[in-house]
Amino acid sequence: MVVPADCALHEAIQVSPLILSDDVRRQKIENHTAKMRLSVATVRKIQDVFISEVNKGIHQQPSSLQMENTYIPELLDRTEEGLYLALDLGGTNFRVVLLELAHGAPIRQEVKKYHIGSELRIGSAIPLFDFLAKCVSDFVIARGLQDVELPLGFTFSFPMIQHSLDVAVLVTWTKTFNCPDAVNKDVVKLLREALDRRADTKVKVVAVLNDTTGTLVQGSTLDPNVAIGLILGTGSNACYLERADRVEHWETERHGEKEVIIDIEWGAFGDNGVLDFIKTDFDRENDANSLIVNSFTFEKYISGKYLGEVVRVILARLTKEGLLFVGETTLHSLLTPGTLTTDLVSKIEQDSVDGGNSNTKEVIKKFGIIPDEDDIRVVQYVCEVASNRAALLVSICLAGLLDRIDKEQVAIAVDGSLYKHHPRLENWMKRYISLLTSGRQFKLILAEDGSGKGAALVAAIAQRLQERLQ
Ligand code: ADP
Ligand code: MG
Repeated sequence: MVVPADCALHEAIQVSPLILSDDVRRQKIENHTAKMRLSVATVRKIQDVFISEVNKGIHQQPSSLQMENTYIPELLDRTEEGLYLALDLGGTNFRVVLLELAHGAPIRQEVKKYHIGSELRIGSAIPLFDFLAKCVSDFVIARGLQDVELPLGFTFSFPMIQHSLDVAVLVTWTKTFNCPDAVNKDVVKLLREALDRRADTKVKVVAVLNDTTGTLVQGSTLDPNVAIGLILGTGSNACYLERADRVEHWETERHGEKEVIIDIEWGAFGDNGVLDFIKTDFDRENDANSLIVNSFTFEKYISGKYLGEVVRVILARLTKEGLLFVGETTLHSLLTPGTLTTDLVSKIEQDSVDGGNSNTKEVIKKFGIIPDEDDIRVVQYVCEVASNRAALLVSICLAGLLDRIDKEQVAIAVDGSLYKHHPRLENWMKRYISLLTSGRQFKLILAEDGSGKGAALVAAIAQRLQERLQ
C-alpha cells in the first residue's frame, strides 16, 4: 500500500536528474550508481533495522550498537559555579581547557594546545600519561591555580567501556596512538596516577566522556530542548537522553535517576551484517581501502573520513568503464585511494547549489585531468548521489531517535566539519528528518567544542552529583 507520507518521501529523496549529451551514456551511469540511491522501501527497512538494533543494544542482546551508558543522568541545572577543567585527547590536537561558570553558563574560557610527539603516542602508556599530567600542571600553575580544587572532565575519544562516570576501560587505541599496555586499563586511573606522581596541583578527575556526549551537554547550554548529540566530522556518532528505566546496563548504584545519556557508537552500525542489503561494490572497495576493514560500516557510508573516497571509487569505476574522462591518460591520481578528500566534495556540491561549475573544474584539474562539460556533470552527479545518501542515512537514524524520546520538542546538537562545511547536508537532513519522524518537532543546532567546553560542563555536573551524595 502506498501511503501519502511515502509519496512525499519518494519525491524528497530524488537527486537532480543527470543530463548528458549522450543518452546511452547517461543511462549506463545511472545504472552503475542505482544502488547508491535508496528507495522508500529500503529507507523504511533501514529505519526498522536501526530501531531493532537500538532495542537489542539497550537490552544487552547482541547488536552492532554498543549503546554505552555514560552515567550522565542529568544536564546542567544552572546552579554550577566556578572553575572547571577539561582535557581533550584523541582529536586533532591535545588540549587543556579552563572554563568559568556562573549560573551554569560559561563566562570565560582559556584553551592551550599541546603537541604530543610520536615517541609518546607509541610505546608505554606511562610516559604518555606523565606528559598529559605535566601539561595539566603547567597550565594550572601558570594561572596560579595550584591550590584550587579543580574538577576535570576527560574527553577520551577512543573506544572504551564505561563502568561509571569516572571509570572507563580502553578497548583499543585508534588513529595515531598505540600504547599497548594501556589496553584493558582504566584510563581515568592512569591519568590520576600520573597526576598523583607529580602531586603539584589539586586537580580532581571526576568524569570521562567522548566528544559526542560533550556536544550534547554543550548544546544544552544553547537550547534547553537538546536531547541528542551528533558528530559529523572525521567520524560519526550520536548520543541521546534515554529513560533510565529502559537502561539495563547500569553497574553503579542507582539513585532514582530519570534519564541518562546513552552513547550509541553508531559508527559501527551494521558491523554484524544487518545493513548488508544497502552495501554496494563501491562500499566494499571503500572498506577494502580503509585502515581497519570490516568495521565501522555505517561511518564508512557517511563520515568525512570516507565520503570523498566513496566518490573517488565511483568516479574511478566509471572511468574504467569508459563512461568518464574518455581519452584521458593522466588518471593515476584519481585511481589512487585517498586522493579525493571530503572537503573537495563540499566544493563540488557548492557548484550544484550555485548552478555553476568553476569549483568542479578546479578540483578535476588538480587531478591532472581536463574535463569536458559532460564529465563535469557526471562528477557533480556522483558527489550529489553520495552526499545525499549520507544525509538520508543520518536522518533515518535521527528520526528513529526522535520517536524514541518522549518529548514534544527536541533540539539536536551537532558538531563536526562535515556538517559545518558541506553546503547541502543540513537542508537535506531537516527535510528528511521531518518526513521520517512521526510528527516530532525538532531543530538542528550547531554546538561547537563539545570535547573541550562540553567536557568541562560534564565535570561541573559530575561534581554536583558527587556533592549531592556526600
Ligand atoms: P574531528 O572529527 O577530528 O574532531 P572535524 O570535526 O574538524 O575534526 O572533522 C574533520 C573532518 O571533516 C576531516 O577529516 C574531513 O574529512 C572533514 N572536512 C573538513 N573540511 C571539510 C569540508 N569543507 N567539507 C566537508 N568535510 C570536511
Ligand atoms: Mg571533533
